[in-house]
Amino acid sequence: MLETSYIPKLDRTVTRLGLGALPMGPLQRKLTPDEGAEVVRAAVANGITFIDTATMYGTYEHIARGLLGWNGTVTISTKTHAQKDRSMAREHIEKALRELNRDRIDIMLCHGARNPFSEELWGPTLETLCSAREKGIIGMVGVSTHLIQSVRDAARNPEIDVIHPLINMKGMGIMDGTAEEMLEAIREAHSAGKFIYAMKSLAGGNFVPEREKALRFVFGQKEIDAAVVGMVTPLEVEWNVRFASGLPISEELAQKTALHSKRLSILDVVCVGCGKCVEHCENNALSLVDEKARVDHEQCILCGYCAPLCERLAIRFV
Ligand code: SF4
Ligand code: SF4
Repeated sequence: MLETSYIPKLDRTVTRLGLGALPMGPLQRKLTPDEGAEVVRAAVANGITFIDTATMYGTYEHIARGLLGWNGTVTISTKTHAQKDRSMAREHIEKALRELNRDRIDIMLCHGARNPFSEELWGPTLETLCSAREKGIIGMVGVSTHLIQSVRDAARNPEIDVIHPLINMKGMGIMDGTAEEMLEAIREAHSAGKFIYAMKSLAGGNFVPEREKALRFVFGQKEIDAAVVGMVTPLEVEWNVRFASGLPISEELAQKTALHSKRLSILDVVCVGCGKCVEHCENNALSLVDEKARVDHEQCILCGYCAPLCERLAIRFV
């Protein structure tokens, strides 16, 4: 059985293991909506009741198709990247309702990522989300972030219901401190009554070779209510669900979902073309094209040496 967390504001539980929908979409593994739907269907059929997505992930169709005809309750959290722009935020709300085929959005976050959660950047967006919450169109509002300071700021903001922080065992991708410092901020936010769900537990696939340890670290934190993990095949769903449920995992399943089943992917929207990864790949698998890193999959041996050099966490294994 998967562990669950109760969300008082929605009066329902979600599984602590959630499905992260970024890697399946056009920014990374590029699954078709039907292929993505298979993964979503496998997730809910295996008991997962929490899905994370975002306007910019391009995975609403994958999710909507996967849930077509499914009668169980599934909580979906999405995000808007509209900054300083009420009308774009409203468009993102309407798009989510329409394309996810729902009459209410359970959770919608300011897609903070690497930007500070400041009044100047996010004030108008947050107001728009709160106004939709008052009308019952959104259940809970919040922020996703790679910054410890943003977790602290959001913890003190009475309008915020949910915080989706980047946290993993090595703190990889945290922009302003260590994993332990992020955990302190998470504890503060949790005790302020915020629902906390973690992102990048596997650091964008970088910790797949030590995934058991990485997931134990995140699920072992009692202040983390849930963690969403990117999954791109039904077998990955099976591995994650069996692991999180404490069930035995066959050698065959472990092999079929190990790092060699994945591909290196550069997140273009995040890469700034600094070239550090290119300089350090001894296999000449990386190059810069139009100021973005490009990978030659024929040359890449998935050694993983390049990824820790990218301060933007743009190198993922999906
Ligand atoms: S190190 Fe990161 S940001 Fe720099 S070129 Fe490589 S992928 Fe892009
Ligand atoms: S994983 Fe290894 S081989 Fe592949 S691009 Fe990075 S450094 Fe090069």
